[in-house]
Amino acid sequence: MKSSEQIQANAQTRTDSADVAVIGAGPAGAIISALLNRKGHKVVVIERQHFPRFSIGESLLPQCMEFIAEAGMLEAVNNAGFQFKNGAAFTHNGNYSFFDFTDKFSPGPGTTFQVQRAVFDHLLASEAQKQGVEIRYGHGLTAITTNAAGAELQVQPDNGDAYQLNARYVLDASGFGRVLPRLLDLELPSNFPARTSVFTHIQDNITADWHDRSKILVTVHPQYSDVWFWLIPFAGGRCSLGVVGESHYFEGKTDLQACLQSFVMETSDLGQLLNKAVFDTPVQKLSGYACNVKSLWGQNFALLGNAGEFLDPVFSSGVTIAMKSASLAAPLVDRQLRGGTVDWQNEYAVPLKRGVDTFRNYVSAWYDGRFQDVVFFRQDKASPKISGMISSILAGYAWDENNPFVAEPARRLNALADLCRR
Ligand SMILES: Cc1cc2nc3c(=O)[nH]c(=O)nc-3n(C[C@H](O)[C@H](O)[C@H](O)COP(=O)(O)OP(=O)(O)OC[C@H]3O[C@@H](n4cnc5c(N)ncnc54)[C@H](O)[C@@H]3O)c2cc1C
Repeated sequence: MKSSEQIQANAQTRTDSADVAVIGAGPAGAIISALLNRKGHKVVVIERQHFPRFSIGESLLPQCMEFIAEAGMLEAVNNAGFQFKNGAAFTHNGNYSFFDFTDKFSPGPGTTFQVQRAVFDHLLASEAQKQGVEIRYGHGLTAITTNAAGAELQVQPDNGDAYQLNARYVLDASGFGRVLPRLLDLELPSNFPARTSVFTHIQDNITADWHDRSKILVTVHPQYSDVWFWLIPFAGGRCSLGVVGESHYFEGKTDLQACLQSFVMETSDLGQLLNKAVFDTPVQKLSGYACNVKSLWGQNFALLGNAGEFLDPVFSSGVTIAMKSASLAAPLVDRQLRGGTVDWQNEYAVPLKRGVDTFRNYVSAWYDGRFQDVVFFRQDKASPKISGMISSILAGYAWDENNPFVAEPARRLNALADLCRR
């Protein structure tokens, strides 16, 4: 072990540089590093962990396929053998409904995949490396100062001496690590209540013919409409299973597997569907993950994906927002590095937030019941055009202002929920 003085002394002696430093090699980091590398910039990614590593967030939305294509990774993702996904299904007390994303209103891909993130994130990062991006696994950012010329990052490898990396621009894609929000005092609490999620991977052994493996299944708890489950089928007979609710529902439940199984058994649709499931993987718990920041950018840095804001898992929007932030930021970083002027507030923060706010409206409406009324409205009576507009949002097209339910989410959603209730 090195003493802290030795580490500091070495940090002073070893310095290297890049045009762009990216913190984190998750979806946001992999996509933006590939995009900037394609524009001719030297990109160094600092990733604290070694891949493949577990991550939650396994159900993708079709919108993110556009960003994967933009980064030149579509063929690799299409050929990886992930579970095909074409929609979202919902159940509550015997009511079943579903949205097929290929019926959506917005242009763009209508299908995507359900992925084990350990494999998916490793694939994206490897594709970025193949394109020329340097990824330093096992290197964590510990401190940063930004200045008019760029930024100085202090990096601690897990096997070796700390060093300084100088970059002209820094992108924080550290996800729930939220490195720059913490180091630069940018953190803000979320407006959503603290929720908890308890989850695992199972061998599902599902035989029920109503269950469609090409859709995420969202099941509402029979008694508590603010408690819901995800069931995300993977290829090969396995599923990701999780339950989400306000943290008080989980208080005192220390045996996480018993907790998850008892929630499942209280919910007859899901209980029956999973009556032969084998729980063969440790159950995990995450709490209080919703977060926000004071600003998505500052002097020579910007925050991407979860390092900025995270809303809620209910619409599987996290990876799509992470990739959208990368796609929006890449041309702006490129322009700035070439000496151009960038208005980060109006060209990055405002447009990114527009789609995030669309999701925010639907997340709020899910938990207060308005959107559940829309989702469970009798499908034979629903207007195909309006269903297509809702399907678009569920497919991740939350930035398509041509969709009236994106352009005016609150007003349109209230009117629709009102109609469905009547
Ligand atoms: C319960 C739950 C369920 C979810 N389900 C879904 C879903 O079904 N679909 C979906 O799209 N999203 C889902 N999400 C959200 C999803 O997990 C995230 O939105 C997504 O992973 C964000 O990607 P990212 O690239 O911003 O960050 P991440 O994927 O978190 O990647 C960040 C990387 O940064 C690295 N890092 C952290 N700190 C440092 C440091 N100091 N130095 C260097 N590297 C560092 C980490 O090791 C990590 O590899 C869910 C979230 C939760 C909480």
